[in-house]
Amino acid sequence: MSGQLPPKKEREAIVRIALDVPRAAHLDAVEPADLTFDYRTSIVASPGQRVIVPWGRRELVGLVVAEVQQSSLAEERIRPIVALLDDVSALSPAWFQLVRFAAQYYQRPLGEVALPALPSLLRRPSGYRLSEGAYRSRSMTGLQKKLKALLPGEACAGEPAPILSAEQASAAEVICSVVTDEGRFAPYLLHGVTGSGKTEVYLAAIAAALARGRQVLVLVPEINLTPQLEQVFRARFASAVVAILNSGMADGARAVNWLAAHEGQADILLGTRMAVLASLPRLGLIIVDEEHDPSFKQQEGLRYSARDLAVVRAQQAAIPIVLGSATPSLESWSQALRGRYVKLVLAKRAQEDARLPAIRLIDTRRAKLEHGFSEPLRTAIAARLERGEQSLVFLNRRGYAPVLSCPACTWISDCRRCSAHAVFHRPDGLMHCHHCGWSARVPRACPECGNQDLAPLGRGTQRVEETLANWFPQARLARIDRDSTRRQGSAQTMFEAVHAGEVDILVGTQMVAKGHDFRNLTLVGVVDADTALFSQDFRAGERLFANLMQVAGRAGRADKPGEVLIQTRFPHHELFTALVAHDFERFAQQQLAERKGAGLPPFAHHALLRAEATSLAQALGFLEQARSCALARAEEFGITVYDAVPMALMRLANLERAQLLIESSARPALQAFLAQWMAQLHALHSRLAWHVEVDPLDI
Ligand SMILES: [Zn+2]
Ligand SMILES: [Zn+2]
Repeated sequence: MSGQLPPKKEREAIVRIALDVPRAAHLDAVEPADLTFDYRTSIVASPGQRVIVPWGRRELVGLVVAEVQQSSLAEERIRPIVALLDDVSALSPAWFQLVRFAAQYYQRPLGEVALPALPSLLRRPSGYRLSEGAYRSRSMTGLQKKLKALLPGEACAGEPAPILSAEQASAAEVICSVVTDEGRFAPYLLHGVTGSGKTEVYLAAIAAALARGRQVLVLVPEINLTPQLEQVFRARFASAVVAILNSGMADGARAVNWLAAHEGQADILLGTRMAVLASLPRLGLIIVDEEHDPSFKQQEGLRYSARDLAVVRAQQAAIPIVLGSATPSLESWSQALRGRYVKLVLAKRAQEDARLPAIRLIDTRRAKLEHGFSEPLRTAIAARLERGEQSLVFLNRRGYAPVLSCPACTWISDCRRCSAHAVFHRPDGLMHCHHCGWSARVPRACPECGNQDLAPLGRGTQRVEETLANWFPQARLARIDRDSTRRQGSAQTMFEAVHAGEVDILVGTQMVAKGHDFRNLTLVGVVDADTALFSQDFRAGERLFANLMQVAGRAGRADKPGEVLIQTRFPHHELFTALVAHDFERFAQQQLAERKGAGLPPFAHHALLRAEATSLAQALGFLEQARSCALARAEEFGITVYDAVPMALMRLANLERAQLLIESSARPALQAFLAQWMAQLHALHSRLAWHVEVDPLDI
């Protein structure tokens, strides 16, 4: 952070700079596919440094990619950079390698991947002012003060590690040996049943990496899971600097934590998917907890999988990576079966005599349901209340009822802007669209026929909570879903109340299924597990199994045996028989056999082209053009081109959406095809919005 300008060069150089600008904003005839642009400079600007450059009449922060000998632009059109920003160290070549891979693999321009990976405070030109001949950040001094506050005071020992079980110890030993033996890529799939103590294995590996002076990146699927893990890290590694990165942080906090990682002060970076692109100069180990979780997939902009990028990052950095889960993704599982990942198994619960919960199915074709509950489930909850134990009622559907209907005619509550139903929420008396956010007051009478008695159809968590409150007026109830935890910090407060024993019955969506250990919880009731069984989404079964296994794992964690009751109309479905036996391997085998037969991932690789327009014909028209381009090269690249079809949720926020699926049995072939296809797609100069998604989760 010198007060002087960097040394001047004798002759001006041309540097190529990555910018995050919308593609269409660049109107040059030859459009650089990666959104890098040439500028002149008379000062030494090295790759990885940030600069301020003119862009039209504005100024932008960009990243120097390289110095180039020649530009395709005419000399008089190359503009000079405005300033070099030297307030933070340059991004490393290793970081660029990762970002470049992400850009190429997911078919996005480099600038659009690289710049958003930096905290917003570091990419706003308005944050800088010219003083004594140098550009200085307005906020950097404040940030550096906060950065100091992250550092621990006096070094102290931290809590000692507990004695590991034999399984934990041998898994930890395998990973630690690679952490110590530096310079080797080693991917591990840690398959541990719920309650088997995967975290202790992570901690042992982290300790080994820290002892060698390396940084550790720990990815978790949800913001809610960071506070408890952060506490564990701070308690165990008292002298280590723990930085946090997630999308819920304010700009300043994000910048401070990002800088701590980037400048090498942070020893552990704990974060959600965005943290995978953080700059970590001393990185020695990556851990992805709950690696199967769909939240690792970003669903907009750069549609990347943080888990997949983490594996690539470990490979590039030649370090070990641990993917942990009780229900691994079928992608990772098949990698382990093929010997590409080393499988480590924790088959027993960590605490001695803590057994896996007994899972029982309640056949709802026979059992009579009252307000969605069978008699055995209701009785089981009552028994827990009497014994002073906690129950969890799981239903993966928020709101009061998924739809309002008129019994006198055919009216149902539809979203005005989507081809979806609007969900009835009782607390605010509104109908909400869970897809686009549209909401409206529930009409007093049916808009079609005037009937005054509109009926809620089906049930969501609010309705289940209401039923339980009626039946058990003395019980302390809590509902945890996205509606009840909208306020920042409220999820944390509610989870703490459950831990403190201030809740008797907890009603929740999959938010409660992840990672939280409730010591006094001995019953899990699953109200309706069937909706996902026959979904057109080929991953629905995998998700349902993972969700149910996770939620079942909440029961009986400590010394009390747990019971799980699942209400279903299909008790003989193979998913449930595997679940009752706690047999992930059997389930995975069934699913993989089905996927192989149907030619689905992980046996095939997909890319989706999606288009949206005000009319479906327009969207399909564009996709047809794209399809002809693809068909012309299909044989050459060995790809399959499917028909252009409307998406399952066809209309979203007043736009009609359609998609085109491309499939290949080989990833490199698909990548090669996509690279040339993207150029063709851009050349179509279509005005409608479209994007390509590589490895989509939903097709
Ligand atoms: Zn009606
Ligand atoms: Zn909507």
